[in-house]
Amino acid sequence: MLRRTKIIATLGPATSSPEALDSLIQAGVDCVRLNFSHGEAAEHVQRAELVRELSRKHRRFVALLADLQGPKLRVARFINGKVELKKGQAFTLDPDCDKSAGTADRVGLDYEDLCKDVHAGDVLLLDDGRLELEVTAVKGRTVECRVLIGGCLSNNKGLNRRGGGLSASALTDKDRADIVTAARLGADFVAVSFVRTADDIQEARELLRQAGSQAAIVAKIERADLVHNEARLEAVIRAADVVMVARGDLAVEIGDAELVAVQKHIIGRARQLNRVVITATQMMESMIHSPMPTRAEVSDVANAVFDYTDAVMLSAETAVGEYPVEVVQAMSRICIGAEKHPSTHNSKHRINEVMVHVDEAIALSAMYAANHLEGVSAIICMTETGATPLIMSRIKSPLPIFAFSRHHLAQHRVALYRGVQTVPFDTETLPNDEINRLAVDELIRQGIVSRDDRIVITKGDYANAQGGTNTLKIVRVGSEIR
Ligand code: PEP
Repeated sequence: MLRRTKIIATLGPATSSPEALDSLIQAGVDCVRLNFSHGEAAEHVQRAELVRELSRKHRRFVALLADLQGPKLRVARFINGKVELKKGQAFTLDPDCDKSAGTADRVGLDYEDLCKDVHAGDVLLLDDGRLELEVTAVKGRTVECRVLIGGCLSNNKGLNRRGGGLSASALTDKDRADIVTAARLGADFVAVSFVRTADDIQEARELLRQAGSQAAIVAKIERADLVHNEARLEAVIRAADVVMVARGDLAVEIGDAELVAVQKHIIGRARQLNRVVITATQMMESMIHSPMPTRAEVSDVANAVFDYTDAVMLSAETAVGEYPVEVVQAMSRICIGAEKHPSTHNSKHRINEVMVHVDEAIALSAMYAANHLEGVSAIICMTETGATPLIMSRIKSPLPIFAFSRHHLAQHRVALYRGVQTVPFDTETLPNDEINRLAVDELIRQGIVSRDDRIVITKGDYANAQGGTNTLKIVRVGSEIR
């Protein structure tokens, strides 16, 4: 059975070798994430080349997502790589401390302005919230704290403030350089971290275009001040192509009590606005060291599927985990199981809206016809840019949408759209009246449809024209198809 919810796997030491990557792709990963918070540009370029090579080998369309580091605040390094902080002890954050000479008393950090942003009584969170500090005093450039929740703190761990509000511009100098690398390695998606406003997205888009890339932009939603400002959040979703509910930093900033409702709100709003949405972080965390997920993780993934996320994302589980293939298989199993639930099969999406564009009206009509007509087993959509399958896939359905396209960009972009599968298909060389029959033949050849199945087909009168979808046809396998 085809899985509709897409899986993104972050690459790292556990999945860098050709063998490991090969197994990951065979396990069904739809998109790989190159995390620019770690590793050198040359490593990312090499991994991207390998992904493209192996996907070709397996005839799969695996998208590349370059995730920019953004202005994530981090502590510097410790003399021994890590320290143990005890509840109640004093601990100082000091930008003037040698960057590799941290101790259990004090550690350096790159962010010079922390002393201006925090006040006594603020709670600072380290390592995705695993450790908590309370600011006791700000003296000159140093921030003195008391440990509220202790534990092991190792090199370069992240630093947030409860309630958010730390850090400046979303695009750092490193991000600007990494955008050029992302363009060079042919990223299909580029994720902007710690987005504050729609302008951050526009700026990233301009830099990408200047670097010669048409990559779609992912806005990572991870700041408390953004999710608490509805107008700004709405503008960010509209400015982006994809949004990511980046639950790691988001949960640290807003607290876990609010997280699940915020996730549901962002997923719902993104889909209403025709944007793609990714649910990320700690989905299968225990599988970093265990071959089986916990019941809570099974529930978390299934809940995101019920929310109708387009994709679920694995981070450390595949980057440094001991079971990278098993975690993808387990996630895939859970998604397929959850997708059987009837709540994900029907939709009233935009049913009361007035449409402005013909292609949109056709895309939505096709989905409503497919969902409500007996015997339909697939939707075929001829697409130049991936725009029609995007609109289609905003509608809940149990039926697969096949995006037939000759363009590399569309073939890989739709890899992230829920329920959409790529079929490489070059309409340019085909007579117009044979396109439908040949497309159906392709699905018969792939064993997806069989005699008497109904298939919904959309295309433009003039094949190969962008935004030209104006035809909806319903055919039956085995009858004459034109
Ligand atoms: C997150 O915070 O959930 C996230 C995806 O961002 P990163 O892994 O880059 O911290």
